[in-house]
Formats: sequence, C-alpha cells, structure tokens
Amino acid sequence: MPERFGEPAFMKRPASGETGRNPAAGDGSAEAGPAAEAGLKEALGTALVREQFMLEYQPQLELATGRIVGAEALIRWHLPGRGVIMPGDFIPLAERSGRIAEIGRWVIRTACRQNLAWRKAGIGRLRVAVNVSAVQLFHGDIVDAVASALADSGLDGSSLELEITESVMIDPRRAAPTLERLKSLGVLVSIDDFGTGYSSLQYLKNMPIDGLKIDRSFIRNLLEDAQDQAIVMAIASMARHLGLRLVAEGVETADQLSFLRALGCDEIQGYYVSRPLPPDRLGEMLRPGGAGD
Ligand code: C2E
Ligand code: MG
Ligand code: MG
Repeated sequence: MPERFGEPAFMKRPASGETGRNPAAGDGSAEAGPAAEAGLKEALGTALVREQFMLEYQPQLELATGRIVGAEALIRWHLPGRGVIMPGDFIPLAERSGRIAEIGRWVIRTACRQNLAWRKAGIGRLRVAVNVSAVQLFHGDIVDAVASALADSGLDGSSLELEITESVMIDPRRAAPTLERLKSLGVLVSIDDFGTGYSSLQYLKNMPIDGLKIDRSFIRNLLEDAQDQAIVMAIASMARHLGLRLVAEGVETADQLSFLRALGCDEIQGYYVSRPLPPDRLGEMLRPGGAGD
C-alpha cells in the first residue's frame, strides 16, 4: 500500500508548489477562429506519432486513512512552438475531428502501463482513473481499448477506473450495454462532474456505477455559500445510502477538507493535496519514505 499520507505533510507543501498547468495555455488564451482551429486540427493529426502527448497524474486522498489510494490521469499536449496545450483546448476538437478514439486508446494504454510500472517500483496498489469522453463511449472502440490495455499491461481491472461525464446518462439505455461490457472486464466506473450533467437520477439505481465525483463548481465556495453546502450535503447523503464512493474534486483548502470529512466524503482530489504531477514526481511522492510521508 502507499505510505500513509498525513495531513501535516501536505500542509507543509505550498498549495501552488507544483506545476501541472501552464498559465499560458488552457485558460482560454488559445487563439480562436477557424484558421487557428484548422492549424490545431492538422497538428492533432500527427501528435500521437510524434509522441507529443503526456499524462500527468493527480493524487486522490482517502480521508479515513490519510493514504493516496488513486490518481487521475490528465492529458497534456506539448506542441512545439505553442507550449503546453491543456485538454479543455483540444479534447473538443479531437471529438469533432474523429481523433478522440485513438487518443483515448493511447491514454488508457499509457495509464495502465504507468500503474504497473509504479507497482513494480514498490509503490503498492493504486487505482488510476482515466477520463472517457461521451464520443469515445458511444462511437469509439472503448471496450476493446480497455480489454487490450489490461491484457498488454497485465494490470487487474479493479486498478483501472473510467470517469464518464454525467451527460452520458441522458440516454441511459444507450450507455447501458457498453457500461455492462466494461464492468465485465472488472474496471470501476465513476460519474465525473456530478451535479452538472442535467440527467435524470434514475440511472443511479440501474446502472453499474461505483462512484461519484462532485463537480469542482460546488466545492469552490463551499465554506461561504449555503446553497453549495446544501447541494454537497444532499449528494453526500445520497452517495452513502446508495453505497457509492464519493470523491470531491477541486479541494484547495484545509477548511474545505474538514467540511467534506464531516459529511462523510470518502476521498478528495485537488490542489490542497497536490496539483497534477508528471509520473516520476508522483512516484517519488508515493515511494515509501518519499515526500508523501
Ligand atoms: P476533470 O476530469 O474534471 O479533471 C479535473 C480538472 O480540474 C483538471 O483540469 C485538473 O487539473 C483540475 N483541478 C484539479 N484540482 C483542482 C483544484 O484544486 N483547483 C482547480 N482550480 N482546478 C483543479 P485539466 O487537466 O485542465 O482537465 C480538464 C478536463 O479535460 C478534465 O476535467 C476532463 O474532462 C478533460 N480531460 C483531461 N484529460 C482527458 C483525457 O485523457 N481524455 C478526455 N476525454 N478528457 C480529458
Ligand atoms: Mg475527470
Ligand atoms: Mg471533473
């Protein structure tokens, strides 16, 4: 198991201590307009073969034990001449231009390999989560991508989590067969950005889901906004009664953590614990005797 990751250790670490976001990119500053989009689209076509993608991993802290039990893989695109492009600035384009399935396949394969590499390095059992876009789920070869990534790496299915957005559940009958097939591979499925997807909650009783991730927008002003508090409390209560693991994302302060702990939230993810990190940095942090102790 990863070493115990106590609160005092990460309270010493400055919240903005790590990189992970390039302030020059991913903040809406990407050039807009059809010409810029056409250039980016073309570059996207060769990004995989040129090995311009990389994954960063953001740890997930289990509140009951103080351990890092998981990490979310987040893609970045290093485009020469442009710097780091954040996923919000190219994933929608990849979806529109039919590239998302192959990129998603690479993400799943890379995350599985990385998880196994950490395990071989003595880090112990870690759950790694990957984001799966709705386009990839409905039109891609996601079941095959997951099955072959698990077979190639030798990773057990329960060490891989797929984060799907709630909007997928607007049409649960369409999503169900794919989710069932994914579940039969042993992987975990969680709903990302929970509370923002405008879907009926009906799916929570019928679909094979393991966890919910409360969207960051409800956490941001949690301490000041009574309405956010009411929503988060209701989600926490619902998750507990439905037996779903609850992760809060975007946790940036100790007060937010305390509030979420009191509500029985299972895990937190956010800058308070760590920014997304390159794999070797997360490995260092989780190594017995590493910075996470
Ligand atoms: P997400 O899955 O909800 O990921 C969480 C986002 O919140 C990440 O942004 C992360 O860096 C950011 N974040 C985490 N903690 C904090 C915090 O404490 N404060 C603040 N302000 N932000 C925090 P990122 O990496 O820019 O990713 C944005 C979105 O892009 C992701 O949202 C996900 O929907 C998508 N994405 C990322 N990687 C992939 C991928 O491999 N495939 C697909 N399809 N989508 C991806
Ligand atoms: Mg996610
Ligand atoms: Mg999210």
